[in-house]
Amino acid sequence: MLDRPQQYRGEVTSPTDVYAARLDRARALCTHVGLDALVVGPGPDLTYLVGVEGHTIERLTALVIPADGPAAIVVPRMELAKVRSTAVGGLGIRIADWVDGEDPYALVTGALPHPLHRVGVSDALPALHVIPLGDRLGVRLELATPVLREGRMIKDATEIAELRRAGAAIDAVHRRVPPLLRPGRTEREVGVDIAAAIVEEGHRTGEFIIVASGPNGADPHHEVSDRVIGEGDIVVVDIGGPVASGYNSDSTRTYVVGTPDPEVARRIAVLVRAQQAAVDAVRPGVSAEQVDAAARQVLAEEGLADAFVHRTGHGIGLSVHEEPYISPGNDLELREGMAFSIEPGIYFPGAWGARIEDIVVVTADGCESLNNTPHELTPAN
Ligand code: ZN
Ligand code: ZN
Ligand code: ZN
Repeated sequence: MLDRPQQYRGEVTSPTDVYAARLDRARALCTHVGLDALVVGPGPDLTYLVGVEGHTIERLTALVIPADGPAAIVVPRMELAKVRSTAVGGLGIRIADWVDGEDPYALVTGALPHPLHRVGVSDALPALHVIPLGDRLGVRLELATPVLREGRMIKDATEIAELRRAGAAIDAVHRRVPPLLRPGRTEREVGVDIAAAIVEEGHRTGEFIIVASGPNGADPHHEVSDRVIGEGDIVVVDIGGPVASGYNSDSTRTYVVGTPDPEVARRIAVLVRAQQAAVDAVRPGVSAEQVDAAARQVLAEEGLADAFVHRTGHGIGLSVHEEPYISPGNDLELREGMAFSIEPGIYFPGAWGARIEDIVVVTADGCESLNNTPHELTPAN
């Protein structure tokens, strides 16, 4: 999918030493950028660092990591059992629990060294907590995004294995799509079948299901509708979700019901070449914008530049969308272990659209594609 905000769900999958290494790295990065501490709220950053999954918004849960000192986690007592069952127990992180009526911000202050100069907060920490926390600490809180992104952007072997598992699972779903796209069925009916297949093939849930037929394919953000699929329709199917570990799949294929119009087929063949050109451009040292440009150039040569209305891709992991973003103007250098989508599309408002999407992981000399079903316009049957 393109850029819808995601609800996050995850569970512990990594050994304690993996989390310990991630915490050490966060501390080192913290020191490197001159922050005294990090305060990390529920969300993918917290799951990445200690294996704790999302919790309630209004009661404060926060992992407090001083650049130089022991970490603590502030947690509502009602969530205590859940937190103890995660890596937090094995990591020797001090637990500071609280009950309704007590002041959780005092617990954060108590877990930090003083005096404080600069404190970073994770980008998912609600303003509801950021404002009182900033007042209490007496510092202007900063986004810890640069520190946290640095760790999460480079996937370790455990994470790559989970993304590979997710890729294989969504490929298995795409293989089941052609017989679902029968003329006379609605996008919604097909979507229900796909949702079931996503779970059957090893996901916790279908996080997003786009079945965009005919003119709906021209809207990159279409989900499903009651439109009846007809003979000759082009259908964009963009699907994915988390596997048990919380790591996500995301793959798009474009299908045709019956025989495509020859000009439509020609343009989709160009899109397939554009997608492949971007995949072929991926290797360490190349910038994100160069990969984006590789897809854009193939489309431009065939007069389709204006039909490609979004970035080429997004990073993926515990979130469906995260760094690095493969977009024009992003001069970030790709590094081994980065994982992201390559998903150029072409859109013709009122008529049809097409998109092809694979997740790739940067290797020492190129990339590994985690999605391996055929890219060509696929006949429904
Ligand atoms: Zn997608
Ligand atoms: Zn995507
Ligand atoms: Zn979008």
